[in-house]
Amino acid sequence: MKAVVLGGSVSGLAAPDILEALLAAGAAEIRFGENLPPELQPYEPEPADEDLVLLACRRITFEWVLRKQVLALPHVTWHGGVSCSGLVAEPDAASGLPRVTGVRVQPTSGAEEVWNADLVVDATGRRSALPEWLREIGAEAPEEEREDCGIFYTSRFYRLRNGERPQGAGALVATDLGYLKYAVFPGDAGIFSVTLAASKDDAPLRRMMQPESFERALAALPPVRPWIAAERAEPVSDVRNIAALQNRRRRFVRDGRPLALGVHAVGDAAVCQNPMYGRGCSLSMVHAWALADVLNEHAEDPFAAALAFDAVTRRELDPWYEAARMSDRDAREVASAQRRGEVSGMDAKPDPAAPVDPKAFMRSVLQEGLFPAMTQDMVVLRAVVRAINLLDPPESLMSNPDVIGRVLAVWRDREKRERRQQELGPPRNEMLRILAAP
Ligand SMILES: Cc1cc2nc3c(=O)[nH]c(=O)nc-3n(C[C@H](O)[C@H](O)[C@H](O)COP(=O)(O)OP(=O)(O)OC[C@H]3O[C@@H](n4cnc5c(N)ncnc54)[C@H](O)[C@@H]3O)c2cc1C
Repeated sequence: MKAVVLGGSVSGLAAPDILEALLAAGAAEIRFGENLPPELQPYEPEPADEDLVLLACRRITFEWVLRKQVLALPHVTWHGGVSCSGLVAEPDAASGLPRVTGVRVQPTSGAEEVWNADLVVDATGRRSALPEWLREIGAEAPEEEREDCGIFYTSRFYRLRNGERPQGAGALVATDLGYLKYAVFPGDAGIFSVTLAASKDDAPLRRMMQPESFERALAALPPVRPWIAAERAEPVSDVRNIAALQNRRRRFVRDGRPLALGVHAVGDAAVCQNPMYGRGCSLSMVHAWALADVLNEHAEDPFAAALAFDAVTRRELDPWYEAARMSDRDAREVASAQRRGEVSGMDAKPDPAAPVDPKAFMRSVLQEGLFPAMTQDMVVLRAVVRAINLLDPPESLMSNPDVIGRVLAVWRDREKRERRQQELGPPRNEMLRILAAP
């Protein structure tokens, strides 16, 4: 069988050889329990903690290692610099559906070519043009839903001068202040990045996309400060900005029938979501592996393969997509309330005797309780990290009474939670003042 994989930049799940190659190239494993803040010590490991590992690695290193691994495989030919511009198909006698028989490609020079293939995998990412390509071969367009993530995203890379990452409270940084979300991503070779994300409607905050304001914002965030201290690190890139981010899902089966045979969309080409949640690569790998299993099982039956892949996509990707959409909606409301100068959730209730709005209540608990709780309660931290690692489903946090009870306990102690919030970063008004100062 000849398969054409378009795009395709991720692979590696359950692939110890790839993990080994990444580690050899300088990626580092960060294990749960390393560098915990004093409030969470002494650390008592649990057997399942073994699975909680972050891979500190830049995207560029990751891609480079994967490409080398793929090139070393037998029967793989890599065509760099070639862009796919469409599909070729013929009618399938049994189903009447278009049966994809190859792709139209545009090499770096010369005329468009047709490459025949028994199978086409669209891995061209979030800008995948597969709906148009399907329309061109007479297939129905996929059902598609899109929702703006509502944020802009701004990042900068830094180099650790002596390679040593901060320890303790500043070791793992990922926080949501409502009006601002931020994280430090440790990479390989002493490189790390800091990312800020805020509502794209927050005009005064958009100045953080400028280098000077970006640095001011970082300096106002206590957990980030030890990373960017001049004696520890120096910037090695410009400030890079991205907006127009969307959660987008496409369905390639309608009313129990595939739209076309012999073509599958994997990763972001099928389902993409807000990058802030940091799981797009992992989910794309889960998806690619699932496709391999489906194709092994239904090698001779493209119709059955399409249905099986649709089912696995719904099972494995949909919950995370839905979670991203819901979180983004909540985040937009919280950020908008903060822009209007309101305190979010329960504290905003002007009349203490008024009935409780359950949605606002839960939003308030999560917004103001979860992140502070993660810094002082091991059970909460473990539950969050398990969900981040995709080991537990996204709803696991909200359906675990023990975790909810602990978050509530932190949330109810208003004085303590406000102190914790201050330790994570200033309120929006203060941040605006810092950014606007001469
Ligand atoms: C700013 C940002 C930060 C992110 N941070 C994280 C993170 O920290 N962790 C995480 O897990 N995920 C993160 N993601 C999400 C992650 O990048 C994606 O989910 C993941 O890369 C999807 O993999 P993919 O293979 O489906 O697509 P991609 O990685 O986008 O690969 C698509 C490939 O197809 C090629 N291509 C496109 N069109 C064509 C064509 N017509 N012909 C041939 N080739 C084509 C592209 O050049 C590219 O190489 C982030 C995304 C963004 C935008």
